[in-house]
Amino acid sequence: MRFLPVFLDLKAGPVVLIGAGELLRAKLRVLAAAGARLRVHAIDGNHEFGLGAQDAARVDIAVGDPLTTDLSGVIAIVCAGAGDVGVAMSMRAKALGLPVNVMDDLEHSSFIFPAIVDRGDVVVAVGTGGTSPVVARRVREKIEALLPARIGELAEFIGTFRKSINERIAEFPLRRRFWERVIDGPIGAAVLAGRRGEAGASLEAIADPSAFARADKPEGSVALVGAGPGDPDLLTIKALRALQDADIVFHDELVSPEILDRIRRDTTRVAVGRRVGKPGIGQDAINKRMIEGAQAGQRVVRLKGGDPFVFGRGGEEVEALRAAGVAYSIIPGITAGLGAAADFEVPLTYRHEATRITFLTAHKARDAEAVDWSMLTDTKMTLVVYMGMTAAPAVRAGLFAAGRSPETPVGVFARVTRPDTQGAIGTLRDLPELVRRIHGGPAILIIGDVVRHAGSLRRQTPKQIISDLMDAAE
Ligand code: SAH
Repeated sequence: MRFLPVFLDLKAGPVVLIGAGELLRAKLRVLAAAGARLRVHAIDGNHEFGLGAQDAARVDIAVGDPLTTDLSGVIAIVCAGAGDVGVAMSMRAKALGLPVNVMDDLEHSSFIFPAIVDRGDVVVAVGTGGTSPVVARRVREKIEALLPARIGELAEFIGTFRKSINERIAEFPLRRRFWERVIDGPIGAAVLAGRRGEAGASLEAIADPSAFARADKPEGSVALVGAGPGDPDLLTIKALRALQDADIVFHDELVSPEILDRIRRDTTRVAVGRRVGKPGIGQDAINKRMIEGAQAGQRVVRLKGGDPFVFGRGGEEVEALRAAGVAYSIIPGITAGLGAAADFEVPLTYRHEATRITFLTAHKARDAEAVDWSMLTDTKMTLVVYMGMTAAPAVRAGLFAAGRSPETPVGVFARVTRPDTQGAIGTLRDLPELVRRIHGGPAILIIGDVVRHAGSLRRQTPKQIISDLMDAAE
């Protein structure tokens, strides 16, 4: 390691910044935003720095030659777009033993700038020894994605209670376990969710901090997590974090292998869902196993395709968790209908054409009582039909009986957001035929005028598909 990451106290004195142009202004913004006091030598004479009033108040415009200016009390020297002056400044700084950075010039720099993740009290610095700032930035983006937004608040929260806990727990290792349990348990989760007041009250309610720290079981919890329709990049950042933190994951069959790959390697995975022809372990058994896991101190994730609260039985699971008094959280996912809309460029609403959306399940469509089709005849309403493949003839019959036109545009969209996604577009009249063209589910139906706006179906245009269909019908 040539460069050791350290954190510089910006209160200790001013930073001298020398340079010109956009390079100078970019560094100026970084340093000013960090709270540095600055003495700026703008070689090009341009003093338009574009800073807000607060930052500008800490910036002094220096006059005179930087090579002879008095440097006593200065904590560091930074050159950006300074040309030869940078090199000369570097020699001067080194002679005085002052830290110096000359932008893009390792040879003349005694320190370099890392890529920074700034979350208040939590700051992460990423360096590549000056070899590749682009790589450092990519690493920073990955860390940004994994660090909870309120991690700085968590550090600050602990800071406020640290003294009183130090006084109540004498032994250092026990103190550390205390904080680990707080961070990993519901109190930490509450701070990260922005419920600081609740977290503070829970912490203060711990009557015996040493006993709390000694408890052998961590506090378990269950997260109901929406996995989205298949593309792992459509997981939310929160969902990804939950997958990385989980001790055990109960997942549906619908969840794609690419998403299961994002689960931490040593996490137990249990497939609990139904598959066509196979029953799965049943809802009661799923509830029971989740609750047992949490009560045994595990971090349980219940991973479901799409969104947990859209035809996903998430509601029943939450009721069971509430009844058992287990800590739980709900992380939404992108539901299949939204995935289909994006994949096939079907806007679900459209100014005057479609002003309402109904999400419905056709699971029980063959049971004439189960769906009130007369509710669904508004031509300005887009229908998004889940579990509609085998029920397609019943969906068509129901909508016809209610008076929807046979010419109503319809799309059948299968395995959306996955590499092998497939779509077929036509009219309500053709619906069963469209479904026959699909090679395997899961698939979703979108019914309504908006389907006319669909984009390409991977090489096939909607027009081509409709003409194919006409040919087939003849
Ligand atoms: N909770 C899920 C829905 C579960 S019901 C969600 O919010 O998406 C199962 C139905 O969802 C399937 O019958 C199908 O209609 C739809 N579905 C799920 N994943 C899909 C996908 N990748 N492509 C198309 N439809 C999908």
